Amino acid sequence: MIDFIIVGRGLAANVLAHNFHRNNISFNLIGNDKLSNCSNTAAGIWNPVVFKRLTKSWLAQDLISCLNKFYTECELRVNSKFLTQRVIIKPFTEDQEKKLWVKKAESELIDFLDDRIYNLDLPELSNCKISNQYGVVKQSGNLDLSEFCKSSSLFFQQNILDEFFDHKKLIFNDTSVTYNNVIAKNIIFCEGYLVKNNPYFNWIPLKPAKGETLIISAPNLKFKNKIVNKNGFLIDLKNGVFKLGATYNWDHLSDECTDHGLQELKSKLNSLINCDYSIISHLAGVRPSSIDRRPIIGAHPEYKNLFVFNGLGTKGVMLAPYFSENFVNFYLKNEPLMDDVNVKRFYSNYAG
Ligand SMILES: Cc1cc2nc3c(=O)[nH]c(=O)nc-3n(C[C@H](O)[C@H](O)[C@H](O)COP(=O)(O)OP(=O)(O)OC[C@H]3O[C@@H](n4cnc5c(N)ncnc54)[C@H](O)[C@@H]3O)c2cc1C
Repeated sequence: MIDFIIVGRGLAANVLAHNFHRNNISFNLIGNDKLSNCSNTAAGIWNPVVFKRLTKSWLAQDLISCLNKFYTECELRVNSKFLTQRVIIKPFTEDQEKKLWVKKAESELIDFLDDRIYNLDLPELSNCKISNQYGVVKQSGNLDLSEFCKSSSLFFQQNILDEFFDHKKLIFNDTSVTYNNVIAKNIIFCEGYLVKNNPYFNWIPLKPAKGETLIISAPNLKFKNKIVNKNGFLIDLKNGVFKLGATYNWDHLSDECTDHGLQELKSKLNSLINCDYSIISHLAGVRPSSIDRRPIIGAHPEYKNLFVFNGLGTKGVMLAPYFSENFVNFYLKNEPLMDDVNVKRFYSNYAG
């Protein structure tokens, strides 16, 4: 009997798989990555700063230290490259913003904001519409989520059942769970927003947000290893190819690309660059955000060998490594799950 069945094939499932692997917890992954496109649509950016209020993102330093170590180890394990350190270029629109930036860069955000105000004199940014000056965020970067999931799937291929998970076929008692021929001590569901179809965890309060992105070709746009953030983001993928995002929609939750999304993205792009471009692809996915913007992790209130790992929302890349470690320590060493993420906070939603 193995320790866990992991249901899902996105970021959450793959990060857990790596952490189980390095802690000798045996597992099978069951899932089909075609059901939700979230992990493929994302740009995978991590940013220690909340621009709206110019404050530190929740647990930023702990999460970033953990993610750097974690994904670097994964790169070595699967022999691929998906982690890139990049600064975030934040153009200013008002003088007031610059004053606040410098003040914060010298105090509470000293580790995350460069305290210089930059003039637009970098030739590689010449085709970006930055009217005035800009600031620079440190300790930021991005994970190529598609490559991470693809190369992890290849590495764990012996442990993967590439199929739709039918909850009706799950049989369990106090000590084991059985799904077709797989028998495990536990099962953990990493289904993203599709947890709404899971009869055991459909009560967890997600507030999913659909998002669309574009991949564009813009040969005259020259910046490298950077993220430009101005009412959206633009990030270089490879020579002359960029990803642009993202939209937010809480009403139409599907992976379908929309004309409305396309128009919004084009308008973002027009405010970001002043050179020709062509669209390579248009992507859409649904972020599994939770109502309190914290992950939702832990055991089912009634069935103690059923677990959930969800609610990664807009910051899955930062959150998943740290909280998968928290989960592993909870499982192996009986250490508590952090209250802020423990699914227990929503037990009152469970009708039984
Ligand atoms: C437009 C957009 C931009 C984003 N940008 C960023 C960003 O810059 N930085 C960042 O950190 N995050 C970003 N995110 C969020 C990030 O993508 C998510 O936090 C993360 O991908 C969630 O991973 P997950 O594994 O929980 O869910 P998902 O990626 O949705 O994975 C769920 C998996 O479970 C499978 N599954 C579900 N039900 C079943 C079933 N019954 N049978 C079989 N398989 C099943 C699905 O097919 C899928 O493979 C963005 C998201 C979007 C949409």
